[in-house]
Amino acid sequence: MSIPCRSCGSRPLQPVLSLGRTPLANAFLTADRLGEAEPRYPLDLVFCPACSLVQITETVPPEVLFADYPYFSSFSDTMVRSARDLAGRLACERKLGADSMAMEIASNDGYLLQHYRDLGVPVLGIEPAANLANAAEQKNIPTRCAFFGRGLAEDLAAEGRRADVLHAHNVLAHVADLNGVVAGIAIVLKPDGLAVIEVPYARDLSEKCEFDTIYHEHLCYFSLRALDGLFRRHRLSVADVEHIPLHGGSLRLFVAHAGTAVSDRVTDLLAAERAAGLLTLDFYREFAGRIEALRGRLVGLLRQLKGEGRRLAAYGASAKGSTLLNVFGIGADLLDFVVDRSTVKQGRFTPGTHLPILRPEALLERRPDYVLLLTWNFADEILAQQAAYRAQGGRFIIPVPEPRLV
Ligand code: ZN
Repeated sequence: MSIPCRSCGSRPLQPVLSLGRTPLANAFLTADRLGEAEPRYPLDLVFCPACSLVQITETVPPEVLFADYPYFSSFSDTMVRSARDLAGRLACERKLGADSMAMEIASNDGYLLQHYRDLGVPVLGIEPAANLANAAEQKNIPTRCAFFGRGLAEDLAAEGRRADVLHAHNVLAHVADLNGVVAGIAIVLKPDGLAVIEVPYARDLSEKCEFDTIYHEHLCYFSLRALDGLFRRHRLSVADVEHIPLHGGSLRLFVAHAGTAVSDRVTDLLAAERAAGLLTLDFYREFAGRIEALRGRLVGLLRQLKGEGRRLAAYGASAKGSTLLNVFGIGADLLDFVVDRSTVKQGRFTPGTHLPILRPEALLERRPDYVLLLTWNFADEILAQQAAYRAQGGRFIIPVPEPRLV
């Protein structure tokens, strides 16, 4: 395998697992497209022995990946609350005021920056999707409609716009030019500025068997070790780290310019990763073996229930749901339909498996016996929302790390 590492440029990379060729996880189909062949791309995970970064080999061009992107402001209640709390905390800790600047890369519709603005802190969003940038501007969140990288960072710095706090949540895993984005962060961050960076954690991916978070939009799967090396190359330093439950387990990094004091939490977590084996291929190979075992148990359970005459559906037409259904071969022979809160997805069909996507109310109207919870990362919230369905005897199946009935 001759492609270089997305972070450090080393080669060769070592194969971890192959999930086959899958359609793009967010390529939901309209009824008139169901007869057409869907493009499929290899979904192969590899490990860099030099910097320990886990990554996929395929880079689907952004214009293909985001051609008709359905993820519009469909934030969960949990995420909205979390954004408000984080902005309040940072504004207080960093003593931000009218002379400060809070920025966000991939700022969406301003869901996070609006809280800084409400606290009197000037803000600037950077968002490449025009519909989202427009939505932010409608809410009076100044937003630059552009891709963030070294070039844009130099422009902003030349305009005198540099950040006291710079957020990048769920950005690094998505960008093909990883080094360009990190170089840009170093440029746009004030000398005593702080970047708050959230990424799904590769240790949780493996240990909780969250293989369904692997899809073509997620190019990289980070450990703290891999991130630490990446930031060091750009004269940045991971000053502090938190392990948070978001998206099945994420790291929240506090990154500053090199020379800033490093907390014990960082050194402790680096040591814990080494002890757990995250610097070795074996750690991820073992994960690959557990995915196969999970397939047997989950598909076995669904077939058994179907064989007993039960009616099955799924909740959450999510990207991770696309991976799970396609990789495990769970389709219309087992599931009748999928429900989702997103009105953009309702009326469409799931990629590869072609299940109709209905409103959540369909669970009460059609009363399936079991519902496979594909958005397990919001399990508590969804189970609470579906109290009426559950009170009528409906049950949920949470697929990872072990199939579990609730
Ligand atoms: Zn590497």
